[in-house]
Amino acid sequence: MGSFWHALIEFFFPPRCPFCGINLAGSGASRPCSSCLSEIKFFAHPRCPRCGLGFYTVSGEDHLCSGCLSEEWDFARARSLGPYEGLMIEIISRFKFKGATRLAKPLGALLAEYKDPDFSFSEFDLILSVPLHPKRLKQRGFNQSLLLARRVSQAFSIPLDFKSLQRIRHTLPQTELSGPERKKNIRGAFEVKENRSISGKRLLLVDDVFTTGATVQECSKVLLKAGAKQVDILTLARVV
Ligand SMILES: [Zn+2]
Ligand SMILES: [Zn+2]
Repeated sequence: MGSFWHALIEFFFPPRCPFCGINLAGSGASRPCSSCLSEIKFFAHPRCPRCGLGFYTVSGEDHLCSGCLSEEWDFARARSLGPYEGLMIEIISRFKFKGATRLAKPLGALLAEYKDPDFSFSEFDLILSVPLHPKRLKQRGFNQSLLLARRVSQAFSIPLDFKSLQRIRHTLPQTELSGPERKKNIRGAFEVKENRSISGKRLLLVDDVFTTGATVQECSKVLLKAGAKQVDILTLARVV
């Protein structure tokens, strides 16, 4: 498109920060503004190599967190951009509970920008999302996990599989439950419908928030049982 038309369009429809709405005309980007980005905390090293929890200490080696010393995870690694705090809570709740599906694009882009020396998107054969029960899907109208997974899939041209893993049991919202209750609530909630498509594959399961890990653990368990080679988790944020 010619620069004249581009300038004209930008004059009438200036790009705005997807998070705070500030006018970004002239920056040429539709990324969140620098002020919003500075309000989001990102995990850095040292962190737990298993669940990705950042320790916020100035220096030191990566080491297992107390949770991973006592938990038996079936996924190989879980990674989150940062803690579920501040602006991240606000943005995710607008996206998930207030129907701001347009936020899938900038949030998915942030996920696709995730960088870690021991984690590469090219390792994965398939991108999966955490399925919602049809009843919940009908209430909400969209699956936030699938919208994010689709963005990651597009960014790396890795096929998206939203059919193999299915939710067969309607469960109470995990947000209302304690840690042990969450595990119990989610047990038996998922099933793999199509073993062939995931058999022998390395899967990246994308979700919005890692809370206790009960949901992604249950998904990982059934996916591995159905023949997946490896399951890794990527979420926007995790409860710390
Ligand atoms: Zn902003
Ligand atoms: Zn850990």
